[in-house]
Amino acid sequence: MINSEKLSFWYCDNCNRTLNHGEFRYNCTICDDFDYCETCAKTADPPHPHQMVPELAYGRAEKKKYHIKNMKTIIQAAIDKYWDRHCMGTRNVDKENLSIYMDSYSWLTFKTIGDRSMNFGHGLRRLIEPRGYLGICAGNRPEWMITDFACMFQSIISVTIYTMFTGSEIAYVINNTKVTVVVCDKQVLPKFIDLQSQCSSLQHIICMDPITDIISITKHNGISIHYMEDIEKYGSTNQYDCVNTQPTDCFTILYTSGSLAFPKGTIVSENAFRAAFPQQLPSSSSADYIHFSYRPLAWAADRDSIIITFLHGGRTGFSTGDPSRLLEELALVRPSDFAASPNFWNKIYTEFKTSLALLTTCCLPEAKADEEQRLLQQFSKLIPNRCKIITVGGAMVSPIVLDFMKRCFTHCSVDESYGITECGGVTYNNLVEDSLQYRLESVPEMGYTLEDKPFPRGELLTKTTQMFSGYINNPEETRAALTEDGFFRTGDIVELRTCQNGRIDIRVID
Ligand SMILES: [Zn+2]
Ligand SMILES: [Zn+2]
Repeated sequence: MINSEKLSFWYCDNCNRTLNHGEFRYNCTICDDFDYCETCAKTADPPHPHQMVPELAYGRAEKKKYHIKNMKTIIQAAIDKYWDRHCMGTRNVDKENLSIYMDSYSWLTFKTIGDRSMNFGHGLRRLIEPRGYLGICAGNRPEWMITDFACMFQSIISVTIYTMFTGSEIAYVINNTKVTVVVCDKQVLPKFIDLQSQCSSLQHIICMDPITDIISITKHNGISIHYMEDIEKYGSTNQYDCVNTQPTDCFTILYTSGSLAFPKGTIVSENAFRAAFPQQLPSSSSADYIHFSYRPLAWAADRDSIIITFLHGGRTGFSTGDPSRLLEELALVRPSDFAASPNFWNKIYTEFKTSLALLTTCCLPEAKADEEQRLLQQFSKLIPNRCKIITVGGAMVSPIVLDFMKRCFTHCSVDESYGITECGGVTYNNLVEDSLQYRLESVPEMGYTLEDKPFPRGELLTKTTQMFSGYINNPEETRAALTEDGFFRTGDIVELRTCQNGRIDIRVID
């Protein structure tokens, strides 16, 4: 793929040669923005003292005018613009023993992702009409996003289903939305096969992995089971016309992970979905956008991060889904930013405290401070050097843990984000998002009122550009969640602080 006429953004820090677009750069895993060309990486004497990893070098993308009017056209524009860059990657396994993971990733280009999504979309049309409901239930992998893009291309409504849902929750989701096609991986396939008698709308199951003979030869009461690659093959030779939709039409259904009640299907219009992303393709830059995807894609936050990375011409490396390998895979992908729940950071903090206590039981105070500094430095390596932003979100984080993160990961900015499935991003670092409309309501039975001093407290009601349009086939819950003037009752108790500079700061307190 080497194009000797086009230069990349990178140069060799040894021989100073500018690397070509499409050539490998050997990127140092320790030094900041430090690369060797292949020759220097292999022959430099003395060799560079740190591990270097080959990554694809690329240059400025073609300047073209794209007519962006919806999600479909912006995704297609990104595929066209960044076609030969790495787009999505999965961890390599040992060819001899598939249960052994290698310390490397294989990458698919934007073109491959684009072609597969296009083919899969056409292939799906044999099984489902535009505006039909298609469930996606799988671990994090390129095929999840290929299915998502295929639905966008063919105006099929994607319904995201958590893999951890129980059988009865999945049956509820399928019946509630009248899902006719499910795309899943081999881990959850048996769940769907077991549920067929309870789900009369379900006609087709498409498995992302090759199907074993036992399953494919069994008769399944009118449900057909397909292999994704076969659908893609069919779609590559059978093209269907796309159907246009309105920006206010339902685009995707996000099922919330209801811990107490049945999941609720949040209806998201194309307008609301698109509000999370740049409206045009961002202009080309040398900044690396690298995302590490490990949080369930049924949850909007990680799916959105992948699409934002994609629109910037960046790449996403997927975790294998094994929590015990998370930090190892984080170190392999070396993302440019990393978001995690308070739970994740709490665990690291607890580990830090335990190690510190063990190391300093009989130290003098000054030796203790040195020891703590040394330990902080050691822990800081958990977040790869290339990662410049770490975000904590999804729940409240304790100030002690936040302070630890800031002292430990000094190479990163530490940010807090607060968002809700029903309305997208609400605050970032406690500051109100520009487009946010909000108000507070007193909750006297919990002891929070607008008259509270020094700051008013109460339930947060919001209206955003990413606002959902109700819960599917659930008018009661919809009525309970939305006010008459269209504000969403978040159920979160917040404190409204006015800062000295007049900015408003929203803190979730309960
Ligand atoms: Zn060189
Ligand atoms: Zn180095």
